Amino acid sequence: MLTPRDYDHKIARHLVGEVSVTILGTAQDGGFPQLGCQKNCCTGELAKTHQRFPVSLGITGKDGSYHLVEASRMMPQQFQVWEQHLGHYPPVPNSISLTHAHLGHVDGLGLLGKEVMGASGVNVHCSESVSQFINRTPAYAALVEQGVISLSIWNEGDAYSPSSECGFSVRPIEIPHRSEFSDCHALVIEGDGVNLLFMPDHDSWSETLNRQSIRDWLSRLNVDIVLLDGTFWSADELPHRDMNEIPHPPVTETLERLGPKRQGDPEILFLHLNHTNPLCNPKSKQCEDVHSSGWSVANEGDSFTLERL
Ligand SMILES: [Zn+2]
Ligand SMILES: [Zn+2]
Ligand SMILES: [Zn+2]
Repeated sequence: MLTPRDYDHKIARHLVGEVSVTILGTAQDGGFPQLGCQKNCCTGELAKTHQRFPVSLGITGKDGSYHLVEASRMMPQQFQVWEQHLGHYPPVPNSISLTHAHLGHVDGLGLLGKEVMGASGVNVHCSESVSQFINRTPAYAALVEQGVISLSIWNEGDAYSPSSECGFSVRPIEIPHRSEFSDCHALVIEGDGVNLLFMPDHDSWSETLNRQSIRDWLSRLNVDIVLLDGTFWSADELPHRDMNEIPHPPVTETLERLGPKRQGDPEILFLHLNHTNPLCNPKSKQCEDVHSSGWSVANEGDSFTLERL
């Protein structure tokens, strides 16, 4: 079971008729603790009491539909987190949206199949490139052939509705991210006057922003809540590597670019935390630094209602 956390912002209760987003995972693809890591980060007390699952979101629609963002191998534990928020155990999701094909974002797809959930007709929304990855990976292609999932290919920038009356839409935005398997998209989940950006992975701010400031970029996306790539705290976490080669901008760089929160800024919560990241520890000095700038670190179970109250 999860250890209760001191959530650092408002937890919204799920009410029927609302669009509600629950964070089901806040770790980088490897999870926390990370398999094979024998250092204190993953063998100490924190790794036993404050486990984190690979990034994922659970969304409930106004029509009582259920949707996932990312398909994680930790889905059983993530459904327990979702259950705590919903007050009931979630059913087989109506849809799953996939940002890209890296391990922790897709490795739970097989759980939908006959060995586990025995689902049928789950709509998987993804890019053309992720659909090709699914079709050329035999275990995932079999899910398509057996009717467990059906692929809906999105067009970059065009919002889609995962179900007709769900009350929200999802707009995929292409994001530069090293791509051996597929391209990568951030998702803007657009509700009733409140929009949430989910961007767990990107390579560098300079490529993503293309000469804008983070503030300008977020304001052009018109988002109120931002779940942002916080993989590494600083370049020190990857010894023997040049800062320029780090595959994610460190949180220190993001904080430096942003400065303290200003009036009218969106809420920003960091997630996709690597096991080495001191933000995994809610009592760390680094967590304090994030909070004192007015930003947050995401926790499993944090929830948002996408409706202007
Ligand atoms: Zn990732
Ligand atoms: Zn570790
Ligand atoms: Zn990735």
